[in-house]
Amino acid sequence: MGTLYVIATPIGNLEDLTLRAIRLLREVQLIAAEDTRHTRRLLQRYEITTRTVSYHEHNKLARRELLLQALSEGDIALVSDAGTPAINDPGYELVVAAIEAGFAVSPVPGPSAPLAALVASGLPTAQWTYLGFLPSKRTERRAFLGEYARLATTLLCFETPHRLADALADIQQAWGDRRICVARELTKLHEEFVRGQVSDVIAHFAAHPPRGEFVLVIEGYSAPPAPSDPQADWQALARSRLHALQAAGIAGGAAAKQVAKELGVGRGDVYGLWVALNDEQTTTE
Ligand code: SAM
Repeated sequence: MGTLYVIATPIGNLEDLTLRAIRLLREVQLIAAEDTRHTRRLLQRYEITTRTVSYHEHNKLARRELLLQALSEGDIALVSDAGTPAINDPGYELVVAAIEAGFAVSPVPGPSAPLAALVASGLPTAQWTYLGFLPSKRTERRAFLGEYARLATTLLCFETPHRLADALADIQQAWGDRRICVARELTKLHEEFVRGQVSDVIAHFAAHPPRGEFVLVIEGYSAPPAPSDPQADWQALARSRLHALQAAGIAGGAAAKQVAKELGVGRGDVYGLWVALNDEQTTTE
């Protein structure tokens, strides 16, 4: 019984391949690759000569039996063009099929664009939600964004360069002018992080037309601060002023008169606080 190894590969920098990934890519009997020509470049770089077979969106069902048969004969590796298979890449169905058929499935962790963007974004990492690609049509995108408007976790999504400006405008409309980090060309020569409020980032990309690959990391929802209670506010202020005047030896009537004048409230109301203050002090003594 073989094992299906789900192997992460570089998202731009060919050095980002783990030692375990290199060893397993050499040792397995077959590599299922999203695009065999693309993967060949990586394999050549590491002088790996293992046989490859294509496994992509359009043949994943047809390939199922062949790959399960291969697993019954030995280990196989699954790779996508870049990053971690099954994360917006082919792989999920094969993992499920392998588990159902009783084969072991083992991950070989490594690069993944959303995680790489998150950890360098400067936005909270404790809780986050991965949304994949935003819908390409504006009406659907706006409805989709609306569903996540009150989610407090950091939000991550992919966008293409030609839709970036529209997507940012819709994000601002649906979620407000939150903090955002647009991560571009991660691990590549022109790696860049554009951080700021959504409006800052919109202005940046209006001046610098977007090119390359992008991950958007956006701050989650936070409830606006509750409106302050003016009643509680003046009473707290009045109490602290009364305390100070009492310590300075001012009598109750005069203190209430002065504080009422300072705060623009009724002298009787302030005197009530003075009485309560003195009652409290008597009880605690
Ligand atoms: N499975 C992949 C992973 O784990 O990274 C993600 C695959 S998804 C089809 C590809 C998208 O990821 C790209 O369109 C882009 O939005 C993002 N992406 C991939 N590589 C990137 C990079 N080097 N820099 C920024 N974004 C990248």
